[in-house]
Amino acid sequence: MENIERITSNLVQKYNTNSPFELCDYLGVNVIYQELPDCVRGFFIKILKSFVVVINNTVDEDEAKVVCAHELGHIILHSETNSISLNSRTYLCTSKYEREADLFAVNLLLQGEIFPTDDNLSAEEISRITHIPLKLIMLKYFPE
Ligand SMILES: [Zn+2]
Repeated sequence: MENIERITSNLVQKYNTNSPFELCDYLGVNVIYQELPDCVRGFFIKILKSFVVVINNTVDEDEAKVVCAHELGHIILHSETNSISLNSRTYLCTSKYEREADLFAVNLLLQGEIFPTDDNLSAEEISRITHIPLKLIMLKYFPE
């Protein structure tokens, strides 16, 4: 987990943004929107040497950001791992890789934010304020 925090903060420092879309741009990752089955929010594929993040075109802006950050997490953390590419179809999976990609996403999107220690906000409140799914907030601030 500390490692993922370090990776995300290095990225934000290097590219001066925590937008997963801008980071994809800088890193040469294409992001496209497509009609996908409802249960699939997004996934990534590797075409020749380039990565492409495919996002379900029905998700709203906030969710697209989370999906993009999650898939970018897979690309940065797991692209050397062959077993991941077909495993990354939905961020509802609970494998180790899914968890790491979720952690990457929440650390990236909330880079520099410090909620709980400040105000004792609940996970639900943080989720509502940030528009980041509760599950991801729990992972970062309230790990079991
Ligand atoms: Zn995934």
